[in-house]
Amino acid sequence: MKYKYVVVGAGLAGLAAAERIAEVLDEEVLVIEKRNHIGGNVYDSYNEEGILIHNYGPHIFHTNDKEVYEYLSQFTPWYHFWHRVLTYVDGNLIPMPITVETVNKMYNLNLSCFEVEEFLEKQAVPMGEIRTSKDVALSKVGEDIYKKIFENYTRKQWGVDPAELDTAVISRIPIRANRDTRYFSDKYQGMPKYGYTKMCENMIRNKKIKILLNTDYKEVIGDLEYDKLIYTGPTDYFYDYKHGKMAYRSLEFQFETYSREEYQEAPVVNYPNDYDFTRITEFKKLTGQEHKKTTILKEFPTGEGEPYYPFPTKEYQQQFKLYQADMEKEEKVVFLGRLAEYRYYNMDGVVRRVLNAFKGGFRG
Ligand code: FAD
Ligand code: UDP
Repeated sequence: MKYKYVVVGAGLAGLAAAERIAEVLDEEVLVIEKRNHIGGNVYDSYNEEGILIHNYGPHIFHTNDKEVYEYLSQFTPWYHFWHRVLTYVDGNLIPMPITVETVNKMYNLNLSCFEVEEFLEKQAVPMGEIRTSKDVALSKVGEDIYKKIFENYTRKQWGVDPAELDTAVISRIPIRANRDTRYFSDKYQGMPKYGYTKMCENMIRNKKIKILLNTDYKEVIGDLEYDKLIYTGPTDYFYDYKHGKMAYRSLEFQFETYSREEYQEAPVVNYPNDYDFTRITEFKKLTGQEHKKTTILKEFPTGEGEPYYPFPTKEYQQQFKLYQADMEKEEKVVFLGRLAEYRYYNMDGVVRRVLNAFKGGFRG
């Protein structure tokens, strides 16, 4: 069989690539996906109670990238909301990320924005070079907040001390000396109004896109001819682990449904110091769905299982460079997305990457 373009993986990266190829280039494209559904990790579905859940963990779309937002808006209207997170510390639920409200609630104070700025400056541990996620937190909020909010959550999530992780991990969490308690401050935030799966289905309406589910690409690739392969799976697998296995952090998901309308005060509540799970998500509070019952999700991080998070340490970044040297030599293969590029991309980052690669002619 001959296709000019073959895409491996029907996640956001693979689907956006296929959409551009079919819609703009007017070419046939085959997408091969090993799971039994499209969408990759943004896949959502209705559970047996009829509640819309995110099967692979809570996904909140947020971006400042107008072009990415407008691109996805072709495939879905949005349910706009500001995502909020609380964290359970010393028996209290306090707002995350760190804002004036967080400091006041944690220490039972009533400080102004200016006073909180001074408070955090006093707490901050002076440091020369900021090398790790631990340095990031200590240099901004000091020992006490670091221990109560960041240290144990990070150990649970990654299985290592924050001192071993790249600065980018904890830098994801803003520190604000103001009263903006939104989790993200991006201009565009929300949920696809009818869910991510619906949005993904709309991305591949073009008849030139063929989808092959339940198939590992290695089962069929030998029988296919193509000019360009767009690969969005794990790169170590692509190269038969020739430079060793890359580490990924995985999650076990525990869904629970309760016969009451509400479970918790916020869409997401983090548990840095208690329990083995990191956070509880209540889906109705993300999607705006009304229902007499409610479904929640507890996330238990683990080293085994589906690759969800590339491991952000210097050691693995070095190891990935060996693969990158091979990737750069490929003429017919383009590597895109969170797994293939071993990058902690958010959804908007993945779409931006695909749009740029497309504009560049999908050169390797
Ligand atoms: P994936 O979604 O992983 O898609 C890759 C696809 O390739 C998968 O479907 C996989 O089955 C398939 N595949 C792999 N190997 C093969 C093979 N050998 N043959 C065939 N198919 C194969 N981003 C946000 O912006 N906001 C959030 O709130 C957010 N929350 C997240 C929460 C969790 C728990 C996780 C894990 C991620 C979250 N993200 C969030 C990130 C978001 O999921 C990713 O940015 C995005 O889904 C990546 O898309 P992708 O196509 O690169 O990868
Ligand atoms: N983090 C933390 N405490 C929290 C929330 C986050 O220590 O209450 C750290 C943790 O290391 C986490 C990182 O900040 O992995 C990024 O958090 P984010 O909410 O962005 O994680 P994601 O949604 O990508 O899992």
